[in-house]
Amino acid sequence: MTVRVPAKVNVQLAVGGARPDGFHDLANVFLAVSLYDEVTVTPADSLRVTCTGPDADQVPLDRTNLAARAAELLAARHGITPDVHLHIDKDIPVAGGMAGGSADGAGALLACDALWSTGASREELLDICAELGSDVPFSLVGGAALGTGRGELLTPLTVGGTFHWVFAMADGGLSTPTVFREFDRLTPDAAPPAAAPALLAALRTGDTTALAGTLSNDLQAAAVSLRPALADTLAAGTAAGALAGLVSGSGPTTAFLAKDAESAERIASELRASGTCRAARVASSAAPGATVVGRPARRPGPGNDRPARS
Ligand code: ATP
Repeated sequence: MTVRVPAKVNVQLAVGGARPDGFHDLANVFLAVSLYDEVTVTPADSLRVTCTGPDADQVPLDRTNLAARAAELLAARHGITPDVHLHIDKDIPVAGGMAGGSADGAGALLACDALWSTGASREELLDICAELGSDVPFSLVGGAALGTGRGELLTPLTVGGTFHWVFAMADGGLSTPTVFREFDRLTPDAAPPAAAPALLAALRTGDTTALAGTLSNDLQAAAVSLRPALADTLAAGTAAGALAGLVSGSGPTTAFLAKDAESAERIASELRASGTCRAARVASSAAPGATVVGRPARRPGPGNDRPARS
């Protein structure tokens, strides 16, 4: 059973002060983008995780992997032993501010749910996602959504057109808790977060220029403070013709909004030549959430002699 799950970019990330429980109140406008991890689950003797892809060596393969935790949580709720092999084909940068681990958690959850035919409702799956982490519910639903609370309370948003992006990957990751600590240090009097009406309108109407004018990330100053070279990447993307650039989530990936697909390709190649990033990739939005893309081959029979793949 294979599930494909998108990365995300936060087109707005408004951050309030630290709460007594250590989390921050957020107004987090998520947009799913067409960079994907694929999680494949097959029955096995015991729970194990493997991973392939450019950043595979940075992915934990023990029970701390969000895919393994998702399988365990679902299994525990349904009285199942989670004896499965979870394979992650990883294309989303690790610790890159694009919710790659969350994507794998949501993907494993949906794949195990389909493999075990648990019949879990969407609400139950979203509940498990919220237990796994603030960004996991969005990885399941995809599209665009406003996340409030610590980001896990989702309101779906309408997107009226296709947006074209370039993502510049940096060497090494940034730890999300470290970036939030730096935010607290730099912003002792953070205002209560709120979604910007002009940004929501730009999404709704599919207006790229208006979206470019309203992109914002309250964590950007903290990410740049911890990784000053990100300022060079942001400048290189803008010089290459991006309408706007920002740090993606807690970074260090930077995201650039392009006028159209052609312009995105041009910006990506100029960013690669600039020497200010490890790699540059184009993607579009809004992408669908976690989706089953492959099922195991069924026994041959009339009209049923091929594996179902879409
Ligand atoms: P976010 O944007 O949600 O803040 P991120 O994209 O910055 O997250 P992730 O790629 O999710 O970061 O990885 C953060 C950390 O989570 C990694 O350093 C790793 O130790 C751990 N982790 C657990 N499971 C996974 C997974 N399946 N893939 C990648 N990292 C994982």
